Amino acid sequence: MTNLIEHPRGAEPGKPGERSAFRFEQRTRLSDSADGLGRGGARYGRTGVIHTPHGDIQTPAFVPVATQAAMKGVLPEMMRATGAQCLLSNAFHLYERPGQDVLDEAGGLSKFMNWDGPTFTDSGGFQVLSLGAGFKKTLAMDVTGMKSDDVIAEGKERLAFVDEDGVTFKSPLNGSKHRFSAEISMGIQHQIGADIMFAFDELTTLMNTRGYQEKSIERTFRWAKRCVAEHEKLTQERLGKPYQALYGVVQGANYEDLRRRAASQIASLDFDGVGIGGAIEKRIIGNTCAWICDEMPESRPRHVLGIAAVDDIFACVENGGDTFDCVAPARCGRNGAIYTRRGRYNVKRAEFKHDFTPLEEGCDCYTCQHYTKAYVDHLLRARELNGFTLATIHNERFFIRLLDDIRASIDGGYFEEFRDETLAKYYENGSRG
Ligand SMILES: [Zn+2]
Repeated sequence: MTNLIEHPRGAEPGKPGERSAFRFEQRTRLSDSADGLGRGGARYGRTGVIHTPHGDIQTPAFVPVATQAAMKGVLPEMMRATGAQCLLSNAFHLYERPGQDVLDEAGGLSKFMNWDGPTFTDSGGFQVLSLGAGFKKTLAMDVTGMKSDDVIAEGKERLAFVDEDGVTFKSPLNGSKHRFSAEISMGIQHQIGADIMFAFDELTTLMNTRGYQEKSIERTFRWAKRCVAEHEKLTQERLGKPYQALYGVVQGANYEDLRRRAASQIASLDFDGVGIGGAIEKRIIGNTCAWICDEMPESRPRHVLGIAAVDDIFACVENGGDTFDCVAPARCGRNGAIYTRRGRYNVKRAEFKHDFTPLEEGCDCYTCQHYTKAYVDHLLRARELNGFTLATIHNERFFIRLLDDIRASIDGGYFEEFRDETLAKYYENGSRG
């Protein structure tokens, strides 16, 4: 087997990375139907393969988030054993620490963290811009009665300011002043060296006014053009490196016309794929994916940024999402929240203290094969790091297996039955998330 960490596809000394090392191959597409949310009843859900210099991703796929080039408490080889195909890291965090030059020197993100597989980085835009409002990342927001461009979380200082050229912000690590722009984000992401990168975009929230959303998507479009130009330049300059694919990001909040306009703008540029970003209300998450797919060539893979809930995953897959990242399985797992096909429960509840059964009956993960609820409960209460490891392995496996099963259901022609059965079981006890 070729070691793709050492010899990524399409990288030759003295030459720019071969673009053909990245491509998407569609396999099975859901048939159009009367209730399809796309134009003319189109349903864009599909299976396929994303080929990258560091290996292939069978889609739809779940992308675990290794924020700082690490899953907290779980080694990359253990992630491989859970069935993970690819990992997503955060450009902003790696820029702050250890610095993108260290990753470049190491031979890129995969090699730095010993992950023999494809990687993604997000542009850093989200982290930088959320400093502006002090809000945590969230797709579904309750915005009743709130509409303002100046809204800020209570007790937080505004740390980021957007202008036409980019964003100025104060580092949350040490308070020092920094600047991000399209060119800076591209430079950082090229040095980090992930297989798939995202264009620098302006994130808005559902609380921004319609007028601001309009201005913002136009600004994101101008930034997108600058990202493509800088990306092409860096690809030509950085010889001997594998090709890095660049996805454009579609914003536009809840507005169909803005989402469509943003999607056709992104489609008009030479991006390798598309990121569906920004705040979306849960009730229209499937519609939003379909609107964007209506405007986008089918040859480009589509990534839904930061998705959390099981029903949202089904809605996004059905309407064209190919890959999905989410921090929830690891973050919730560390707090004791365990995902199962019958809903989510907290293993730290008193009733599990003497329960020597696995976290989930029938789960094939390493944790469930070897450990019990009582033990994981004990470790988490004692703040033993192995508790993080065991809970994270199970929760990541839950989402990876869910997407594997969804993929099989599309290829096998039983997606609707699988969806209805899975959602009914998952939510029957009132599970949230
Ligand atoms: Zn398990």
